[in-house]
Amino acid sequence: MIKPVLFVISAPSGAGKSTLIQRIRAILPDLFYSVSYTTRSHRQGEMNSIDYYFVDKEKFLEMIQSGAFLEWKEVHGSMYGTPLEPIRTALKNGRRCVMDIDVQGALEVFAKMKESIGIFISPPDSRILEERLRSRGSDSEESIKTRLQNAARELQFSDVFPYQIVNLDLERATQELIEVIRRESEY
Ligand code: ADP
Ligand code: 5GP
Repeated sequence: MIKPVLFVISAPSGAGKSTLIQRIRAILPDLFYSVSYTTRSHRQGEMNSIDYYFVDKEKFLEMIQSGAFLEWKEVHGSMYGTPLEPIRTALKNGRRCVMDIDVQGALEVFAKMKESIGIFISPPDSRILEERLRSRGSDSEESIKTRLQNAARELQFSDVFPYQIVNLDLERATQELIEVIRRESEY
């Protein structure tokens, strides 16, 4: 049996959370993935409505006004928000859900959603984090600097999350994540 649990995954940018989530979605295809709205521009290979809903600031502000978001935050200079309705529906239908949001957003979700469980993904160290951000080849030098500065602050919140996974070896971190999801949602 599956319990409807909302897994809230946070990590400093570049720690590997999108890569890990992609892998667990392939292994657990029943997971509902919450697609966020954002005002940031597309990265190469990203698809609208699959990775994010890419919208302009005007549309994003309209959605705030109409109460469409469970939470929203400005992160690394762009706006990001979690639409409420799809998550409500998925949980009501008994599905387990995964969302990938920043630490501040996660704290808000913990307070608002009793079904939420936090998982924090850490990079092995700051040098590897920087290497990963550069190897991804998708962010400007300025954006990489902002992301590294924010990482130090985000790491201070890792203790608030009941689960912490260090993403050194990708295969091992994937298995650890799967193990947490199964432990918390299968009975
Ligand atoms: P995030 O979603 O947390 O910002 P990404 O998933 O985009 O991070 O990963 C950042 C970069 O690091 C990508 O190029 C990805 O392929 C790489 N990466 C992720 N996990 C690992 C790992 N365990 N070992 C080596 N490289 C990794
Ligand atoms: P990226 O631009 O690298 O895709 O994401 C930047 C940061 O925004 C990441 O920390 C990611 O988890 C966060 N993020 C993505 N979607 C949301 C969201 O809907 N709400 C919040 N608060 N953060 C989000």
